[in-house]
Amino acid sequence: MTARVLVVDDLEPNVKLLEAKLRAEYFDVLTAFSGQQAIELAIAEQPDIILLDVMMPGMDGFEACQIMKSTPETSHIPVVMVTALDQQADRVQGLIAGADDFLTKPVEDLALFARVRSLTRLKVMTDELRMRYATGKSIGVVDQADLIADIEDDTPPRILVIDDQPAHSARVYELLTAENFEVAIETDPEIAQCRVKRGDFDLVIVNMSIEVIDPLRFCSTIRSFEETRLTPILAIVRQGDTRKLVRALDIGVNDYLTRPVDKNELTARVATQVRRKRYVDHLRCSFEASLEMAVTDQLTGLYNRRYLASHLSAMFDRAAWTSKPLSIMVLDLDHFKTINDSHGHDAGDIVLQEFSDRIRASVRAIDLACRYGGEEFLIAMPDTDKNLASAVAERLRADVAGRTVILNGGRDELSVTVSIGIASTEDHSGEDSAQKLIKRADEALYEAKSGGRNRVIKSAAA
Ligand code: GH3
Ligand code: MG
Ligand code: MG
Repeated sequence: MTARVLVVDDLEPNVKLLEAKLRAEYFDVLTAFSGQQAIELAIAEQPDIILLDVMMPGMDGFEACQIMKSTPETSHIPVVMVTALDQQADRVQGLIAGADDFLTKPVEDLALFARVRSLTRLKVMTDELRMRYATGKSIGVVDQADLIADIEDDTPPRILVIDDQPAHSARVYELLTAENFEVAIETDPEIAQCRVKRGDFDLVIVNMSIEVIDPLRFCSTIRSFEETRLTPILAIVRQGDTRKLVRALDIGVNDYLTRPVDKNELTARVATQVRRKRYVDHLRCSFEASLEMAVTDQLTGLYNRRYLASHLSAMFDRAAWTSKPLSIMVLDLDHFKTINDSHGHDAGDIVLQEFSDRIRASVRAIDLACRYGGEEFLIAMPDTDKNLASAVAERLRADVAGRTVILNGGRDELSVTVSIGIASTEDHSGEDSAQKLIKRADEALYEAKSGGRNRVIKSAAA
């Protein structure tokens, strides 16, 4: 996987060195020599990852990072702080500024590539979600403000620690619970897997020196299941255990700490992982919500015509393939214009909503009910023959005619009737299509209208 990397450092030799290393591994490299220039380039060029020097004259790396993380156009781009000193304080300040990771100068090759690849993988995924999300936005159903990576969520992060060494796990437990994180410790890998799969945790911390199981295998198992593919994993490794660390990052471990675990670094890294996970979850949920809105009619909550168009032919094909009848009914309220004219458009809307509620109450979960036009509705019923469809339609017709619609808190009531046309695939064993089925139901509806309304007509077998 190749990626575009923006390298930022005020000293040219440092930039050249990193640039050469990255190019040798076929990364695409952009360079900047100040915080300000980095911000402008990041906005204009949208790199996949930014390697940012901490000490620069004028705007330092922390400030540049903090600005980029709070700017919508750049907040999703991972930032790795490159610090000259291996100082805990710098790391913590960087995490507070929103940095995603650190590298210490002189930059070690293995750590550099493993890190860049791991963050690039994550970005590919968030980019995909952002793109779908933007589609929702263009339909006008989601908010630009939601794209900012900072999600307000006050529920305490839930962490699962996989460790068979009580001395280690007790310390991690103590440090995290002191910060109001909810922590569970698990020594049995099978149970741990089940708990993670249930989706109970925001983060899994794995002690890489664990002896009861192969920790790398455990991590790769977590990565391979659909439910836990995206659950962040933080590895705790022994100092100098570079080989294991590189393997872990290759498998898809999101971040790591070396022992002895520093309190501030632990809590800051855990918080960063949780924040990222919640951002991804938020994008997915919003995407699903926006999708829901795109296929739903706003007034009635039934599916809209766009959804029907995309699903009816699939229902039709499935019916043909399983040799089971598919019936559809087209419903149209009688003299609806008169209701609007004499009681107002708002009253008309209430009638449409009430009618939709009654439709919902009379169809099964596998039926597809949609608002087809203004006061016209369509219900597709898989595995339903013409007689059963007629019975459902007749019950609905009688219910509409038999119960008035209440308006103005009970001061007014309105009698409404509906005409229904039905067509079924069983009428037609030869050439047929969803469109032809709708056409036959429409013709039956027309017959119901011209026959006096408030009635159900089955399409004559063609
Ligand atoms: P018919 O019995 O032949 O179906 O007569 P009709 O009056 O129901 O049919 P027509 O197609 O002449 O009129 C439909 C009316 O539905 C006209 C339109 O203003 C109204 N309408 C369409 N959409 C809405 C809506 O969302 N809300 C309201 N209140 N009225 C709507
Ligand atoms: Mg009508
Ligand atoms: Mg009409």
